[in-house]
Amino acid sequence: MIPAMGTGRRRVLLVEDETGIVEPVVAALEREGFGPVVAGTLGDARAAFEAEAPDIVLLDVNLPDGSGFDFCREVRRAGDVPVIMVTARGDEMDRIVGLEIGADDYVVKPFSARELVARVRAVLRRFEATARQGEHAAGAGPAEVGGVRLDTARRQVTLDGEPVELSRKEYELLALLMRHAGAVVTREQAIEEVWDTNWFGSTKTLDVHISGLRKKLGDDPAAPAYIHTARGVGFRFAGPDEFGAGAGTP
Ligand code: CA
Repeated sequence: MIPAMGTGRRRVLLVEDETGIVEPVVAALEREGFGPVVAGTLGDARAAFEAEAPDIVLLDVNLPDGSGFDFCREVRRAGDVPVIMVTARGDEMDRIVGLEIGADDYVVKPFSARELVARVRAVLRRFEATARQGEHAAGAGPAEVGGVRLDTARRQVTLDGEPVELSRKEYELLALLMRHAGAVVTREQAIEEVWDTNWFGSTKTLDVHISGLRKKLGDDPAAPAYIHTARGVGFRFAGPDEFGAGAGTP
């Protein structure tokens, strides 16, 4: 494990067992002012995540003691640290699984260290912009439509007063839809804003997240109360006026 140095440097936890990849990436990260921390196994990654509190995680899928996907889930549960998955070339399933379990981006081997560092910058920038938006939106108070209440300050969602457990991507998708409540959000817009990609596979990922959200909000896909399908275009979250007076709020 290489400890992060200095203060104010963004710490990048690189979980990778191939030294041929580790060395150039570490060199590129250091050159660009990041503080890399390297873990070659899941065990080391867990310890480093605790000890170093990284700002972002770069995560190989195939590790000697298990799957990077497991660690991705753990990072997601632990809080808001973005994850970039590193997948083998042509392994489309890996990319789909990675995005579905909440990875923020992925790179495909072989990649240049320069490309990877550019992705790190992009994800961190987007992540911080989202956090600022959250703070900004928080000033406007929680959004509420029918029985669904979205508290951007706490990143909490309740349905009829009961907490709803959402994955980070589900939360971001719901927040996007509710920001535009009553209006259609196109598939392209959703994919671009929530996954920051125009990769064709993410359109399936979007459907998976929509159906997950509907399930958690008790929406019948055949006659949804909240998330309506705009056929061939996208999705529309119901506007506040579509619920009778007193339907959700006292
Ligand atoms: Ca590996």
